[in-house]
Amino acid sequence: MVDVLTRLPLFKLYRMTGWPQMLPLNLTLSPSPKCNSRCLTCNIWMKRENELTIEEWDKVLASLGQAPYWFTISGGEPLMYPHVVELAELAYKHCKPGIINIPTNAILPIIPERVEKIAKACPESQLIINLSLDGVGAKHDYIRGIPGNFEKFEERLGQLLELKKSLPNLAVGIHSVVSVFSVGHLDELIAYADKSGADQFITEIAEPRVELDTVGLPITPEPADYAAAIDRLIAYVQTKQFKGISRITEAFREEYYKLVKRILEVQDQVIDCYAGWVSAQIYADGTVWPCCVRADRLGNLRDHNYDFREIWFGEKIKEVRRSIAAKECHCPLANASYTNMLHDVPTLARVGKKVLGIGGKGKSAEKPRVPAGAHLMQRPETLVQIRPEALKPLPHPSKPTAALPGTPTRQAALEEEEVRIAPQG
Ligand code: SF4
Repeated sequence: MVDVLTRLPLFKLYRMTGWPQMLPLNLTLSPSPKCNSRCLTCNIWMKRENELTIEEWDKVLASLGQAPYWFTISGGEPLMYPHVVELAELAYKHCKPGIINIPTNAILPIIPERVEKIAKACPESQLIINLSLDGVGAKHDYIRGIPGNFEKFEERLGQLLELKKSLPNLAVGIHSVVSVFSVGHLDELIAYADKSGADQFITEIAEPRVELDTVGLPITPEPADYAAAIDRLIAYVQTKQFKGISRITEAFREEYYKLVKRILEVQDQVIDCYAGWVSAQIYADGTVWPCCVRADRLGNLRDHNYDFREIWFGEKIKEVRRSIAAKECHCPLANASYTNMLHDVPTLARVGKKVLGIGGKGKSAEKPRVPAGAHLMQRPETLVQIRPEALKPLPHPSKPTAALPGTPTRQAALEEEEVRIAPQG
């Protein structure tokens, strides 16, 4: 961790001057786009790629050395990828990351077994498993497109919390995507997460991403709707007493929610983005992106002898970095935003003040208003209810997507073995 902190000012210099050249701290690996969810906010499940083999991943990860501190293994559904355990083992062997973060839709029965293997194979890394939850009960199933998903979520959450008792490096969280479909019932999600026993509740706004093929889809909530919902979450968080490292992470989380509100309001990079310097993503076919939102094709690792450095310190990335630094894009992507906040001095100052309890009657130390949603949390019967007719399947709000060869139809995909919601054997 100390090593990471010493690298932060150097990244600032790197972004400003191009020197010293450094590999990213925060790397997302997407080994496969295949997914057994059918979310209203995502179309990645339709993609099929010529995926890197595990032997190819081995060479890629070896080329990174111990630079990355934070890995996210994403998808598709990452825990459905057959080599996910080996991939985590290779990341651990070559890079010794401090954190390995894996989101999951919680559907497959094999998830606890795979999580246990990863946690045991990477004992010095903090393994964070975030289970997706976009609504309580039928609302979740509707948004995720899978009947019975909420029941599976609860089953997996129970199994992982049980596993956590014997695995000190495992943390289990709940992750919600705040979209036009879920923004109206965020209070209910907060109340549910609060009682769930999970280590953390995190939210991310639904946004257009090239990776997810959601550019042009009407999935992002209106700024006013998002602000109203997220203000209640902030107020709720402010009523909680956090200790130790949680005080810091919650202070950053609050900053992130405020940052998203600002980005939606001003439609600009509110703080400098470091994607392309500090964070990056490697897509399933070996393509390197600065981030999954723009998904500029910086190069394919197969064309560079699997050496990440050739692409990262090459020519093509220079124009993309110029564009990002010129604020030709903006987005509230959580993964990049948290990295960006670490490089933003005013954000760090506010987090520091909050953690140290400094600020008197200043804005950050204001006694929180009674959360507008607090009464809802105590009286679940008054929670925002979704109209039953809204739970009927609606047409997917996708723009027409050019089907790739081998793209499963929605129905065919639902019939795949992985998505069959059968009684547990
Ligand atoms: S602002 Fe968003 S879209 Fe632009 S580079 Fe950063 S993460 Fe990517």
